[in-house]
Amino acid sequence: MYQMASSETSNRILNRISNTIPNTIPDRIPDTIPDKRSNSTSDEMSNEMLLEFDSRSCNESFARVTVAAFLTQLNPTLEEVEDVKTAVSEAVTNVIIHAYPNGAGKVWIACRIRDDALYVEVRDTGCGIPDVKRAMEPLFTTRTECDRAGMGFTFMEAFMDTLEVTSEAGRGTLVRMSRRFIKAAPSQNSCDRPQAVSPSESLFIQKDKE
Ligand code: ATP
Ligand code: MG
Repeated sequence: MYQMASSETSNRILNRISNTIPNTIPDRIPDTIPDKRSNSTSDEMSNEMLLEFDSRSCNESFARVTVAAFLTQLNPTLEEVEDVKTAVSEAVTNVIIHAYPNGAGKVWIACRIRDDALYVEVRDTGCGIPDVKRAMEPLFTTRTECDRAGMGFTFMEAFMDTLEVTSEAGRGTLVRMSRRFIKAAPSQNSCDRPQAVSPSESLFIQKDKE
């Protein structure tokens, strides 16, 4: 169920929207079955985890709390944890609400911590999004009858440093987000923020096309 943001949350959203990095939408199409992990191996500087669960609303809190627990390795502030939880919650809720109109399907979440950054991917093999650019516009929703606000992608963009969405009708959707957690020395310019980070390739292996 969508809940209106508190004024504190609204302030956080506004602060982050004002610094949001321009979104890029790559052409890459997600594969249909994320049955294998990427070939990358965790080294000393990285750590990965993969979750698979049913797209049921009771699993939304499980998902965001699990990612938050994984994130604690980066020593985030409480506010940073709340930001990531909100973004993950929006992505997972989208799968639950929109991806599988004919019943529950699967949701996959892959996370990677590398250096000072968290990379999160939320994937489904549901109905897909016909027009991703339009879907990502603030206030756009296809579920007006359900009282949706059309703000999920806007929140993800606001709370994370990068957001990329790839989708194909009938095959599913892949949402990729990242955020850096740098404990920088106080800067004279309070607007300074870490540069955007983006993993070189999806944490989900690209299915062999042959
Ligand atoms: P809100 O998140 O504010 O409750 P919303 O879910 O409609 O409303 P967004 O999260 O911004 O708003 O999503 C915009 C639209 O993109 C949705 O209405 C839906 O049509 C589509 N969409 C988003 N995620 C998915 C998905 N995983 N599968 C299919 N369609 C999706
Ligand atoms: Mg949504």
